[in-house]
Amino acid sequence: MRVPFTILTGWLGAGKTTALNRLLAAPHGRRVAVLVNELGRISIDTQLITSTGGDVLELAGGCVCCKVDIKNDLWEGIADIVERARPDHVVLETTGIAEPAAILDSLVETRKVDDDAIVAKRAKEQAAARERIQPAGVICVVDAESGAGALDAREEAAAQAIAADRVLISKLDVATADAVRTTHARLDSLAPEAERAAFPADAGLALTSWLLEPRKLRAWTSRAHEHAGEHHHHGGQLVAVTFADDAPLVGERVLAVIDSLGERLVRAKGFVHLAGDDRRGFVERAGIRTSLEHRDPWGDAHRRSEIVLIGDDLDEAALRRALWACRAAK
Ligand SMILES: [Zn+2]
Repeated sequence: MRVPFTILTGWLGAGKTTALNRLLAAPHGRRVAVLVNELGRISIDTQLITSTGGDVLELAGGCVCCKVDIKNDLWEGIADIVERARPDHVVLETTGIAEPAAILDSLVETRKVDDDAIVAKRAKEQAAARERIQPAGVICVVDAESGAGALDAREEAAAQAIAADRVLISKLDVATADAVRTTHARLDSLAPEAERAAFPADAGLALTSWLLEPRKLRAWTSRAHEHAGEHHHHGGQLVAVTFADDAPLVGERVLAVIDSLGERLVRAKGFVHLAGDDRRGFVERAGIRTSLEHRDPWGDAHRRSEIVLIGDDLDEAALRRALWACRAAK
């Protein structure tokens, strides 16, 4: 029997990992295997996922919808996780820039097998993955506070909403009434048929049933599919920069570096080895918010900063220099 396969998508910082954690934490009794795809070379999300049972597999270093070697990792990963974890459901958390229609294309459509041995091998792996899963829906997380801006400005964000059969509205606890109105208005035009839903903090189980319920891939077979044909994805200049450093850093300075990037920075997330603090720092830019939190103490864990920054035309070398300048002796 094929395992239901759900794609969880949404723009950078929309709240995909938060939704996933709520799903995994709810007492639904189902074995949910999770594949997490991230742009950065270091996977931050898999470290943020508090898995209880099931299995989590990371696909880091590029986007599965368009980077061929990562796409192969996806096919292998699906086959592997279904064999190993025997899940009741598989969920793929896409990168924030993925086009779900392109992923579904590769999973559902039969491609001609070429003479070329590598292409033939890929086609075989793809077929093996396809035999194990049954696409069960595309859920797009849309941030009510700043998601409308992304839907306007970014083709990929719009494509995600268009491909979705369900839209999960996030951040309603911080969004103004105007922002909520604008978000719904954008969705009215982009994805009028996709069901919209939100789940308060105490409705984790309701969120889970909704996320895991198999639905027809309505939009994908119509508009989104056409959209995928004009796959101008990554035609932009979004760059993922990964910074890793063992030295302690001054938290306020790290925040200042992130703030200095202004709107060019679309997303940042990662752990910070804070100078003079035993707690693990977590720095984040999501939507219009930048924050530095203090989490649990490091304990025996190796103290190390690992930050992924995603934005337009980021200068990796300059960013590294600026972050090195945040170092302190202890
Ligand atoms: Zn992609």
